[in-house]
Amino acid sequence: MAEPAEPTCCATGEELFELAATLFPMMRSITGQGVRDTLQVLSRYVPIEKREVPTGTPVLDWIVPKEWVIRDAYLEDEAGRRIVDLQRSNLCVLNYSAPVDRIVTLSELKEHVFTIPAQPDVIPYRTSYYAEQWGFCMPHNLLVSLAEGRYRVLIDSELKDGSLTYGEYCHAGRSGREFLLTTHICHPSLANDNCSGLAMLTLLARDLSVRTTRYSYRFLFIPGTIGSLCWLAANEERLSLIDHGLVVSCVGDGGGPTYKRSRRSDAFIDRAMTHIVGKHPASTARVLDFFPYGYDERQFCSPGFNLPVGLFQRSAFGTFPEYHTSADNLDFISSEHLASSYRMLMDVIDIVEEDWTPLNLHPKGEPQLGRRGLYGALGGDKAASERAMAMLWVLNLADGTNSLLAIAERSGISFAEIAAAARLLRDHGLLAETRPAK
Ligand code: ZN
Repeated sequence: MAEPAEPTCCATGEELFELAATLFPMMRSITGQGVRDTLQVLSRYVPIEKREVPTGTPVLDWIVPKEWVIRDAYLEDEAGRRIVDLQRSNLCVLNYSAPVDRIVTLSELKEHVFTIPAQPDVIPYRTSYYAEQWGFCMPHNLLVSLAEGRYRVLIDSELKDGSLTYGEYCHAGRSGREFLLTTHICHPSLANDNCSGLAMLTLLARDLSVRTTRYSYRFLFIPGTIGSLCWLAANEERLSLIDHGLVVSCVGDGGGPTYKRSRRSDAFIDRAMTHIVGKHPASTARVLDFFPYGYDERQFCSPGFNLPVGLFQRSAFGTFPEYHTSADNLDFISSEHLASSYRMLMDVIDIVEEDWTPLNLHPKGEPQLGRRGLYGALGGDKAASERAMAMLWVLNLADGTNSLLAIAERSGISFAEIAAAARLLRDHGLLAETRPAK
């Protein structure tokens, strides 16, 4: 009864995991070859357009930085043993590190090493995009084990005039109105906080590309902050087409689900995601109010744009110990959790696509459902009685002011059940459609 309006092709959890695993080893940053290589992989699934914004381009209050090139990085002791090596972990070099090639004492080295003393076995992920410095990241236990002496530090990097790269794909819908889905593409080997979002939006885009949709779906694969600023600056005159938006990241772990509302707080996407997360059985499911920190929703929800864009995650960023460390690896995400996140995103797309406002054509008294074969199973069959309740709610609230989502919200019944009941009632001539809901 709750079948979608047309058949859809759906990514499996295994496919999502496999793509995340393919992306995991790649050395990404906010600019550079890693972003281009990542887009190359994603373009095998869906034709993503690659855009380049030259170094020095002013975007809103920012300027596109120099492009970072990283060829090698390691730290050696006097015996020539490699203490850390880019070939073993791409988190070991401060992301955007300036070049260095010298012999240093242990105390000088320590000024350039980042660790997390409270999590002594993990490598932290650190960046320095806008302040030029060199540095290494390592487990705290490794740092404290280093003997006095001299160390060779080599970071073969370059900050050069080049460009910032991002990817964009749009699946055109009938109405011309848009649903924006964005994820960042700038973290190196972090499975949940990057690879999961990239895999999720890529396969979602692939699966939507074969559907006929009401909305256009615009997918952005952008470096955090500066990438969204580049896109916003280049697309300012068409932002009014966006009716719904989601920033998607950290969607492969078993926490949450978490939805952070847009700055508007009561946009349609906020209501639809609140409905979906509210129906999730996990006790960790949360809906958070907007706050001006986080991912690119900060830019989309800045006051000059104020777009209806929320943030969807499993565990909320910064709340899990693996966040921004080498423990955010492929063991931290699973195909099961990826599949469940995918289902929630498809569910919200179903709400956006299938919401409409019904009008009860027999509003005086209840229409006789039994005579139409719609009421027979009440009593005994639990699923049938739930279907009947969904029909009664739809008929009662179908006064032309409530869309199906509003009926789902007020009844506490899932949108899918409400939508199925409404289709059935419409097919039996009991409902008419007033106007498509936004
Ligand atoms: Zn992050």
